[in-house]
Amino acid sequence: MRGNRVWRVVLGLNKTVIEDVDIAEPAGGYGDSVVVVRVHPTRSAKSRCGVCQRKCRGYDQGEGSRRWRSLDLGTIQVFVEAEAPRVRCRDHGVVVAAVPWAKHDAGHTLAFDATVAWLATKCSKTAAMTLMRVAWRTVGAIVDRTWSEIEAMHDRFANVRRIGIDEISYKRHHKYLTVVVDHDTGNLLWAAEGKSKKVLTKFFEELGEERCNQITHVSADGAQWISQVVAKQCPDAVRCADPFHVVAWATDALDEVRRGAWNDARAAAKKEPKLPRGRPATDAPPRPATERAKAIKGCRYALWKNPDNLNDQQQTKLAWVAKTDQRLYRAYLLKEGLRTVFRLPYVQAVIALARWISWARRCRIPAFVELQQKITRHKASILAAIEHGLSNGRIESMNTKIRLITRIGFGFKSPAALIALAMLSLGGHQPALPGRM
Ligand SMILES: [Zn+2]
Repeated sequence: MRGNRVWRVVLGLNKTVIEDVDIAEPAGGYGDSVVVVRVHPTRSAKSRCGVCQRKCRGYDQGEGSRRWRSLDLGTIQVFVEAEAPRVRCRDHGVVVAAVPWAKHDAGHTLAFDATVAWLATKCSKTAAMTLMRVAWRTVGAIVDRTWSEIEAMHDRFANVRRIGIDEISYKRHHKYLTVVVDHDTGNLLWAAEGKSKKVLTKFFEELGEERCNQITHVSADGAQWISQVVAKQCPDAVRCADPFHVVAWATDALDEVRRGAWNDARAAAKKEPKLPRGRPATDAPPRPATERAKAIKGCRYALWKNPDNLNDQQQTKLAWVAKTDQRLYRAYLLKEGLRTVFRLPYVQAVIALARWISWARRCRIPAFVELQQKITRHKASILAAIEHGLSNGRIESMNTKIRLITRIGFGFKSPAALIALAMLSLGGHQPALPGRM
């Protein structure tokens, strides 16, 4: 009797009676031995619907005995084994009876699920799979179950005031997630597959009318489908432009200029004499346009990166651009100028943005003249973002983290599992290890 109590505590089983513990030889004589703990639910936990937990009348014995994977003991795998009878529920019909050690339809114990969910959010895919001896798809199913349960227990939309809406592409830009971030807590608030008015409307429906009215600020990337839904659902909220996206527009414009310069150089390079085969390069005639095309291609990252993060080689490339291509360098300065606006206090930012707009209007670089028009259109929401201090870094880092998770979650069967992993990792309620406070 005492031994059974020890087993119950060790395995973290509640409302469970231990019948027997044994070491079982592996099936067919291959692999390692396992510990099998034979159990049944206590009287109060017996004959309950697997879905709603209500006490029900028994139906039949179902498919007989079942095993649930439990946490390993030392180096050996442990299984909990029990009968899995079916009951007839008033609402759910004939279902397998609930068991107190596992979720409905799960092949693992609660403690096992909790450990896997914790590991999935804390360490690498390989580490989680190897340590727990499970397939990545199984991790996906467990993460999905865990998130559903946490979601049902907490009201994640309580006290939401300032939100950011963004779209994130994954699977090589073939698929999208719409995500909503809480600006005040920095948590991921909501995510769904796809990007459309319909998808985003679902968020506001889940939020409910009363909470929609409590929202004071909404930041987004300026996409029409987002702003139209926001205007309809929270008409009184201050609309802000995500600084992160505004700077990304400038980076895109700069890249257009760089590609133009590269294409020009390549066109000129075609007119240069070809290198004769087999002749040493030292004898070859000079080919400045070819060299130039190569160099422009190589300075891509030097132009993209923030100047503080450039290494020596990239700084040299940037200096080369400044010396040899006035127009491309001007485009670079325009991009950096716009980035600087977001680092200034509000009053200075207002002046700096007006100056930037008039500079870009006269710059004679079509990509930036066009960008200037877009910035003018979004001027109010850009300044609102600066005035209300909606952190650029937070949205950018959330964006980066979700992208990383979409790469890790790539092998999951369903987007639901991917979203669950993102919510468990970045939401306000992260999974806890079993048996700890
Ligand atoms: Zn039921």
